[in-house]
Amino acid sequence: MTYAISGECCSDASCVAVCPMNSIHPSPGEPGFGTGASLFIDPRTCIDCGACAGICPVNAAQPADQAAPEDVERNAAYFADREPLEATDLDTWEAPSYQVWGGGPRRVLVVGAGPAGMYATRELLLRTTAEVTLVDRLEQVGGLVRYGVAPDHPGTKQIIETFERITRHQRVRWLPGGDARELRGADGQLPDGFDAVIHAVGARGSRRLVIDGEDAACSAEEFVAWYNGRPGATLPVELAGPRAVIVGNGNVALDVARILLSDEKRLRAMDVSPGVRSVLAASGIKEVVLLGRRGPGEAAYTEPALRELFAAAGDRVELRYHARPAAWTADGLKLESGETIAAGNLFTAIGFEGTPIDGLPFDRDRGIVPNVRGAVVGRPGHYVAGWIKRGARGGIGVNKACAQETVMTLVSSSRVPASPGS
Ligand SMILES: Cc1cc2nc3c(=O)[nH]c(=O)nc-3n(C[C@H](O)[C@H](O)[C@H](O)COP(=O)(O)OP(=O)(O)OC[C@H]3O[C@@H](n4cnc5c(N)ncnc54)[C@H](O)[C@@H]3O)c2cc1C
Repeated sequence: MTYAISGECCSDASCVAVCPMNSIHPSPGEPGFGTGASLFIDPRTCIDCGACAGICPVNAAQPADQAAPEDVERNAAYFADREPLEATDLDTWEAPSYQVWGGGPRRVLVVGAGPAGMYATRELLLRTTAEVTLVDRLEQVGGLVRYGVAPDHPGTKQIIETFERITRHQRVRWLPGGDARELRGADGQLPDGFDAVIHAVGARGSRRLVIDGEDAACSAEEFVAWYNGRPGATLPVELAGPRAVIVGNGNVALDVARILLSDEKRLRAMDVSPGVRSVLAASGIKEVVLLGRRGPGEAAYTEPALRELFAAAGDRVELRYHARPAAWTADGLKLESGETIAAGNLFTAIGFEGTPIDGLPFDRDRGIVPNVRGAVVGRPGHYVAGWIKRGARGGIGVNKACAQETVMTLVSSSRVPASPGS
């Protein structure tokens, strides 16, 4: 499925900024932009991430299966005789609106090759003449796109190919499986040989319910890492069933429910390892209760994600609101109201949070490194992008505008003299 823009479009182009695939046109600077006509989404390159829908101020971007057929046709027709734009063609993409700034950093270390690190790298290549060293402790780029996004969303994962191409750019030194701590300077100093560091390490910690018996639960972080095959990830529980309670009301909770309830046909179509597929196929979990502390109006999941869950297994999902867990027991989940929901498994999907980075300040309440538009407070030369900068929320595309802001801050406050070689 792709997205399409309806005639309600206000052309403020906030969607252009967040689209990870450069799929929305005409963009500012291109012929036709600002003439009053709608913007359009190229269905050939859209990866279905929903970033445009999340940011559109007038609700004009919609999943194609929920948009009016004539809107879907108008979007496709706009691109009918145009070549798809290459999202990583760093020589031509957005060239009219891009200017390389003079001066600026010469050597930048980017830590983390998830979306934020990759967009920051791309922005540095487009905006500056810097050499970029990109390091990730994992062997492959993608971060949570590879090891978080659900395996029944292969379209969204396609963006990994775009990220891989960025690593092959001549000004990028890609260090997979690297330990950033070896490159990092002591006590917040810059590591030798670098003018700036962008920390784009994401938010790996799981928020906790803080209830008795929680250690026997499986966190969404553990479950999605396992089904996506992240190196070293294991499933910490047996999928006993017949009922599982998932605490959380965001899209990740819905991902967990959808994967748990997938039938054999869905499992066969998913890009998971044979081991994961056989454990899911043999799972005793036949129904799921999704539990939210607040009401349906406050739920963080999106409507398309809810529809998708119900299309996959709606008759085996129960949504419960205004319910507060009190303890996980041998009988199931005890609520503060005194009721116990009989269940064999508890999953927690109540959010991710950042963890401290050696030598940098840390805001424990928000789970972020305190920063001003990406510049780490009190640590000149250190910058942050992505979830460690603004907290664990927002889809892939939001990290693009976020990384652009960080690079803009970096360049404008660069510690390096303006003339090369001075
Ligand atoms: C389960 C789940 C499903 C999601 N599904 C979707 C979806 O379908 N669509 C969508 O648009 N968004 C989705 N998102 C959101 C999206 O994944 C995030 O917006 C995005 O990944 C955040 O990017 P990031 O670069 O900040 O962090 P990450 O993606 O976490 O990347 C951080 C990278 O830093 C590396 N790293 C960490 N510490 C170090 C270190 N010390 N040294 C070196 N490297 C390090 C990590 O290995 C990782 O590669 C999902 C998120 C989750 C959790």
